Amino acid sequence: MREAGRITGEALLVARERIRPGISTKDLDDAIRHHIEKQGAKPSFLGLYGFPGSACISINDEVIHGIPSKDRILQEGDIVKIDVGAFYKGYHGDSARTFPVGKISDEAARLIAVTKQSFYEGIGAIKIGNRIGDIGHAIDTYVRGFGFSTVRKFVGHGIGRDVHESPDVPNFGTPGRGPRLCAGLVIAVEPMINQGTYDVQMLPDGWTVKTADRRLSAHYENTVALTEEGVINLTEVEIGE
Ligand code: MG
Ligand code: MG
Repeated sequence: MREAGRITGEALLVARERIRPGISTKDLDDAIRHHIEKQGAKPSFLGLYGFPGSACISINDEVIHGIPSKDRILQEGDIVKIDVGAFYKGYHGDSARTFPVGKISDEAARLIAVTKQSFYEGIGAIKIGNRIGDIGHAIDTYVRGFGFSTVRKFVGHGIGRDVHESPDVPNFGTPGRGPRLCAGLVIAVEPMINQGTYDVQMLPDGWTVKTADRRLSAHYENTVALTEEGVINLTEVEIGE
């Protein structure tokens, strides 16, 4: 899973290097797929439940599951979420980041920074003997402090031989509730944080999820393993944002 995680993290690096005004989300998706396949891995999302891309690429008020397209061109001031997974030697990695396109507004930058830190607040609650609810409570409490909201309809998840395994890992929760955390657990922790309401809406394409109020949304995800020695971030490859 460390190897699958590394390939996943590197794919995000590859995408980040290419992000600029004028590039299409299809171009980013092609670069991601090329990197993953070059490593002898497979894009986890390609064909998953019928998804047509290697990565989910979602812009501004799109929360998750944006479909890469040659007609979606990044513009100066956009924020773009890239969510990618790699399947290698029987195991998956899953990671997402939100990147600025050129110069973005202070408020967008703040949303990205708070979303990233909310992930680390969640990670701080991952300890042997704690509960799943402790993770989401830490994330949601932090985010609310900034006036942002936590998406409820989509959640993190266990991950291993399948991309999506039990348990669900909501980004909100009640301390001390939910499945107990034990050594060997591997989960994708992925706060999806909205500027306004937590309500979301599915577009007619059957994939793209937008904020109901069309304000911005940010996403930050890593695949993490809980061990006797602590938490290992399997998809972190020093990629900044
Ligand atoms: Mg993901
Ligand atoms: Mg995930």
